[in-house]
Amino acid sequence: MPINLPDNGTKITIQNNRLNVPDNPILGYIEGDGIGPDITSACLRIWDAAVAKAYNDKRKIHWAELFMGEKASKKYDGNYFPEETIQAIQDLVVSIKGPLTTPVGGGFRSLNVSLRQTLDLYACVRPLRYYSGVPSPMSHPELIDVVLFRENTEDVYAGIEYQSGSPEMQKVENFLKQEMGANFFADSGIGIKPISPFGSKRLVRKAIRYAIDNNKKNVTLVHKGNIMKFTEGAFRNWGYELAKEEFAAETITEEELYSKYDGKQPSDKIVIKDRIADITFQLMLLRPTEFDVIATMNLNGDYLSDAIAAQVGGMGIAPGANMSDNIAVFEATHGTAPKYANLDKVNPGSLLFSGVNMLEYIGWQEAADLISNAYPKVIQKKIVTYDFARQMEGATEVSTSKFADTLIDEIG
Ligand code: NAP
Repeated sequence: MPINLPDNGTKITIQNNRLNVPDNPILGYIEGDGIGPDITSACLRIWDAAVAKAYNDKRKIHWAELFMGEKASKKYDGNYFPEETIQAIQDLVVSIKGPLTTPVGGGFRSLNVSLRQTLDLYACVRPLRYYSGVPSPMSHPELIDVVLFRENTEDVYAGIEYQSGSPEMQKVENFLKQEMGANFFADSGIGIKPISPFGSKRLVRKAIRYAIDNNKKNVTLVHKGNIMKFTEGAFRNWGYELAKEEFAAETITEEELYSKYDGKQPSDKIVIKDRIADITFQLMLLRPTEFDVIATMNLNGDYLSDAIAAQVGGMGIAPGANMSDNIAVFEATHGTAPKYANLDKVNPGSLLFSGVNMLEYIGWQEAADLISNAYPKVIQKKIVTYDFARQMEGATEVSTSKFADTLIDEIG
């Protein structure tokens, strides 16, 4: 049993769908492969420093190391995805992970995909906001402050695909043409796009709950329903339906905003609106303040979250989390960048801010704020890792660990 739970910590529990967080919670962490160990050791020091400072040592995270990927394979006799780790992630409720290598060949499924599927982590949550001083291609990146909820289990990512020329494809082609009257070129590769009321509604529910809990003003359902009526269009309709069924007291539609409220949003109502996906990319560049929370399907969410991440500083600092109803796994959104492994070189920002979001998630806002406030001060002094240094005039390039030291000094 390679996992050792710390003796002095207490597990987080769930009561009435809410987290019950003690002052000494045990949180799980997976350091990950490649650059994972470098960024994880830097971030653990920063998170601990912020918590100690925020609560005068009255609160403390008790970290339990969990194993997945290459480190797991060494400890569990070649097993990259140990059952013990999956159990621990469920048991501890909140965990954070570094990036994991997908070993090439042999039909090996991505460990990240396996983790999402095994634990039904159906919502990918990506908070996207700007920290002053971070290099950005935008004139006003500070206008961007949006949390994107991407459905993680359905859509063209469901893995229902038939290769051109295969007997399976032939069967599906025959069925679609002969029985359903469809018309398309022979020998097309075929992919299926399932979008369900269940999957759509639970994702939109999570987005609206988040908006309520965090005093956000609007939730936008992003879709391409003008073209894909029964999948993306249905997602939009189910989203509105869910808002009406379960959040009638807290939400109004954009249509009601004008028909009933003369365009003036009541302070206690969240506006539910929808936008076509392609227009959303434009609006995020031109009028990003119109978006607080976005709820969308898998493919739109994949594209949109990386595009918005680029607007506020790129993948090096973009945080994320994958969640089910009760379990949350926060994670760096970039990969293992193997060429930089063990060089103490890369930007810890993505994992760092995933941890900031984790602190917010467990209700330790003061500790999260200490990091969010100290970070721009360090960046404005132009003390940065290589990736930002190459985009800044007159920067001082530092290692991952030195960046952590500087940030901890700034936190105090
Ligand atoms: P990657 O590891 O994200 O690296 C691509 C490039 O992004 C790096 O070469 C580097 O750019 C930049 N980068 C990534 N992380 C950075 C950081 N912390 N600081 C600064 N720059 C950073 O993508 P990849 O090379 O396509 O994938 C490598 C492995 O990671 C694969 O095995 C893949 O399966 C895995 N992966 C895992 C996850 C995950 O666990 N969530 C996600 C994606 C990929 P420069 O070269 O320009 O410096």
